[in-house]
Amino acid sequence: MEHRISCTRCGNTQTASSECHQAWDEINCIECGDFIDTYGHQQEIATPNYLLHTLNLARSLSLQMARAEHGSGRT
Ligand SMILES: [Zn+2]
Repeated sequence: MEHRISCTRCGNTQTASSECHQAWDEINCIECGDFIDTYGHQQEIATPNYLLHTLNLARSLSLQMARAEHGSGRT
């Protein structure tokens, strides 16, 4: 699987292939050498599951906040 990632420092765009790499391997910018991301994280973002996971996370977080607000309302 291949996807394009851009460096947040110099804006250079490069292609990152997840093959031949471990999830914890770092992706560094080929232009300025700055650390961009890990291959594992890039792979997570590329999968639809990540979106669902984020959605669920946001949902449970708002539920938690609603509960906390409710609880602090009492004396
Ligand atoms: Zn760069």
